[in-house]
Amino acid sequence: RAKATGRRRYEWYAKKMAEETRERISLLADLKLALDTGFLQLYYQPKIHLASGRVVGAEALLRWRHQQNYVAPDLFISVAESSGLIVEIGSWVLQQACLQSKRWRALIDPDFKMAINVSMGQLQQGSFANEVAHLLVDLAIAPSALEVEITETMAMLDADSILPDLRKLQQMGVSIAIDDFGTGFSSLGHLQNMPLNTLKIDRAFVQELASPEMASNGKKAIADTIMQLGSNLRLSLVAEGVEQQTQADYLKQAGCDFAQGYLYSPALPAAAFEQWAVQWQEEQNHRD
Ligand code: C2E
Ligand code: MG
Ligand code: MG
Ligand code: MG
Repeated sequence: RAKATGRRRYEWYAKKMAEETRERISLLADLKLALDTGFLQLYYQPKIHLASGRVVGAEALLRWRHQQNYVAPDLFISVAESSGLIVEIGSWVLQQACLQSKRWRALIDPDFKMAINVSMGQLQQGSFANEVAHLLVDLAIAPSALEVEITETMAMLDADSILPDLRKLQQMGVSIAIDDFGTGFSSLGHLQNMPLNTLKIDRAFVQELASPEMASNGKKAIADTIMQLGSNLRLSLVAEGVEQQTQADYLKQAGCDFAQGYLYSPALPAAAFEQWAVQWQEEQNHRD
């Protein structure tokens, strides 16, 4: 009996796996088409300098409109990653983001910096730093206009294969940020050997900073510890997922440099971002 149940369970599982595989394969085909036909879009979320209140950069985030709906990036990026298509998508993201950054240096802030998310598959090619170098020269863009975000897990799992490229990027003046910091398993000794400029505090730790009873909260303790660590390692600090003014106030007095989140704006299409940012800077000017 146990055997029969086991087999039934296995068959159910195998069927479910096959369905999932079919779905991912069809999603992959559609994603390829979307890349070729312009249905992938970059949205931009502003990054605010807490001390001055000014917009100093943005994070480029991919959006895919597919059959009238937006597919969650976490889903389609995992499909792209497991197929290798992420390399081609990543090159497109890099170029778009760099062009926008150049434009917004002229229009929004002379030191505007654009952050892009980079997947393991892109860095494992071993040619990413060269690709960036060529692009920046071809488009006449300052390396300081670009920041590359890698996740904490990437940085720890396979450091050897990505360190040479990260070093090259940093040497040429591109910033390196660790994304979602606090959710992975960093070895602190390791962290100190990495070419890093920025820690991005994961929003899980930022969210708790608003409540009045936060003094006794473990997540607040982690946020505080990350900020300590960042400041001791001379890294700049970005808080992700800032949704409330009380969170921003706390972060600012605790020494966090930058914030992004729905409090300011969600990610927007380029034209809407531009409008938003020009108006935002205008308001900051009147404030002083
Ligand atoms: P991430 O890099 O950690 O991006 C931050 C995510 O938090 C984004 O989700 C953003 O829309 C969301 N977010 C921003 N502010 C708030 C807030 O105040 N509250 C809440 N609840 N969420 C906020 P999104 O756009 O769905 O992206 C998810 C992930 O997909 C990203 O996480 C990143 O890992 C990946 N991703 C997005 N674009 C790209 C890309 O071009 N290349 C690669 N490799 N990965 C990307
Ligand atoms: Mg990111
Ligand atoms: Mg993040
Ligand atoms: Mg994330």
